[in-house]
Amino acid sequence: MRNILIPFILLLALSLNLSAKTYHWKKGVSFLSFLRNNGISQKLYYELDGDDKELLAEIKAGQSYKVLRHKKRTIFLIPITDDLQVEVIKEKKGRDKISLKPIPFETLKGSIHLTIKNSWDKDLYKKTHSKALIKKLKESYQSLNLNKMKKGDEINIFYTQKRRDGKAISSPTIEAAMITINKSRYYSYLADDGSYYDSTGKEYKKRVVLKKVHSAFIRPVTHCVVSSRFSRSRYHPILHRYRAHLGIDYAACWGTPIRATASGKIIKKGRRGGYGNCITIKHSNGMQSLYAHMSKYKRGLHVGSYVKQGTVIGYVGSTGVSTGPHLHFGLYKRGKAINPARYVHADRTKKTTIVKRLKGKEYRKLRKKVVAYRKKFRRISKTGGSPIYVKNGIYLITSKERKS
Ligand SMILES: [Zn+2]
Repeated sequence: MRNILIPFILLLALSLNLSAKTYHWKKGVSFLSFLRNNGISQKLYYELDGDDKELLAEIKAGQSYKVLRHKKRTIFLIPITDDLQVEVIKEKKGRDKISLKPIPFETLKGSIHLTIKNSWDKDLYKKTHSKALIKKLKESYQSLNLNKMKKGDEINIFYTQKRRDGKAISSPTIEAAMITINKSRYYSYLADDGSYYDSTGKEYKKRVVLKKVHSAFIRPVTHCVVSSRFSRSRYHPILHRYRAHLGIDYAACWGTPIRATASGKIIKKGRRGGYGNCITIKHSNGMQSLYAHMSKYKRGLHVGSYVKQGTVIGYVGSTGVSTGPHLHFGLYKRGKAINPARYVHADRTKKTTIVKRLKGKEYRKLRKKVVAYRKKFRRISKTGGSPIYVKNGIYLITSKERKS
């Protein structure tokens, strides 16, 4: 019961302005020394939980705070953050109390209906003097270009603004909006996730996501260096003449596992002249891959075996005509040698944009909001709305307060 009564007493004291004085937190004063200086038991501090004790260390020098002196008690209200204050109650009789409480604020409701005469942002500013609201409207329609709105187009906004001591705290929150671009209507609603959606649950935002793009052909060996590239005429170090090199040489340690570049069927396995021990795999789309100079084949593989991409098929060696352990890797398209470098890639991540759609429970919640705002949008075009007017940048008044 006391918990409910105290804020009430406070409000009463504040409204009657009963000896409410403002002080400033002195530099170098800790919360504990503050308690001592005011004759309040330090035991109360030690009884608080760890998080609260940490927060009390955040009181900054120069912070203004209120002291309300009452017949039976003295109340200290010391702000810690924009939203949180510590309330210390010193009783003439009875037990003192320390508690952390939200700093009360009012929530103003505003609404706007306007037909563009000059430009959407200038007209909106004229009506509210709030730059924050212009920013917020852009955020509510992130994927639309609001500059396409022309003379005669409409802006309708329902929003809220927190106010404390006549001043704005935090930015306004747009709950629902309806604008027209070239006379077409666009509705935007704030959902529980803090994003804005149209009436069908489609988000007004393009999200960039990283998508893994799997390569059709992978490098057959890892931990290797390319020692010889694909070429149709190159100087051969052993034969001392120019000849084509119809594949890529990957220099790697003896015995390094060789993997199938793509899934397919083994169509050749055995010695083949200068290539030494080799395997040929047939893939889809008329593609074939060749692995040469192998030291050993993977056991259990035969002509006719199917292998998956990445399956180990053998090991690096130097059989055939070779200067050292390496894999000669060839790719053929319909029997014609092609440059593997143009086909073999590591898996990549690609940036793509997606548009989120609300589903299930979240979608049903949004639809309820859509239905609830239908009437409000119809009404606002007749009443013209009641914007919150920002005076001198920070002081907020409703249109009602403005008139009176
Ligand atoms: Zn080679």
